[in-house]
Amino acid sequence: MTAPLELPGWTHTYSGKVRDLYVPADLPAGGEPDRMLVVASDRVSSFDVLLEPPIPGKGELLTTLTLWWFDRLAGGDGGPGIPNHLIPDAEIPAAVRGRAMVVRALRMLPIECVVRGYLTGSGWGEYQASQTVCGIHLPDGLRNGDRLPAPIFTPAYKAPQGAHDENISFERTVELVGVEHAERIRTLSLQIYERGAATADARGLILADTKFEFGVDADGVVTLADEVLTADSSRYWDAAAWAAGQTPAERMASFDKQIVRDWLAAHWSREGEPPTLPADVVERTAARYRELIERLAG
Ligand code: ATP
Ligand code: MG
Repeated sequence: MTAPLELPGWTHTYSGKVRDLYVPADLPAGGEPDRMLVVASDRVSSFDVLLEPPIPGKGELLTTLTLWWFDRLAGGDGGPGIPNHLIPDAEIPAAVRGRAMVVRALRMLPIECVVRGYLTGSGWGEYQASQTVCGIHLPDGLRNGDRLPAPIFTPAYKAPQGAHDENISFERTVELVGVEHAERIRTLSLQIYERGAATADARGLILADTKFEFGVDADGVVTLADEVLTADSSRYWDAAAWAAGQTPAERMASFDKQIVRDWLAAHWSREGEPPTLPADVVERTAARYRELIERLAG
């Protein structure tokens, strides 16, 4: 991983798999920041490992899409008004303009709030073993890529860095964050999914599944954080291909990092260092990320 940038007014504090976090440079040692700078890099991860090389332009595309969705979800078009962590119109250092945002520092809840409208990925794996996903019983006879009778909330425990996230039941979520927060993040997640899926549908896209992160602000308000409804955090498919396709590959024509997942699954046993992504996989992924923004936001 390349070293974090020197940014005027900010001090680097943490790097996740994709994002670099900075706190105000004038924060006293040991102090709690009230705001943070979140910089999206071009790094790409799959199966919880970081891959080489980065995908050119990805950080900017993720940031553009997150800002576009924040605006729509905040009620810009008559929606329910989902509170998010963005501090609008804050000054962004020139070196990262376009791929960074200033946000309120939240106490993050350690839950990956996954919502699935369709059955695939780890949900498909669990379904084949037990006909459930995160303890939710599903009808029999479903195929990979099928639409579910209704969207389901399938949380995962956000493991500390280096460990793999783990699908958990709603009961386990209650144990981890308390019943009030657990119910709130379930309600918000399903609401955001419904709105995202409807918007995608109007543009010929299927929002198959997606993942949110929430934090609690200083007033105790559960607030949408991180990135939202991007090609990194979501599976988007082409609706026409899904309707006409026969094989799973034809049905699930993806506008996300599925290209990377598929290539990696075919070329890596998930042990040791993952291989370097070939140039054509990098280029096709970058093109798909751009295409998604064009299709959604025009
Ligand atoms: P990990 O941190 O385990 O690598 P990740 O892949 O989700 O997980 P990134 O998305 O690269 O990590 O990093 C973003 C980090 O910033 C996450 O740990 C996320 O929980 C945290 N984060 C996002 N928004 C906020 C916020 N408003 N306040 C505090 N932390 C936040
Ligand atoms: Mg993240």
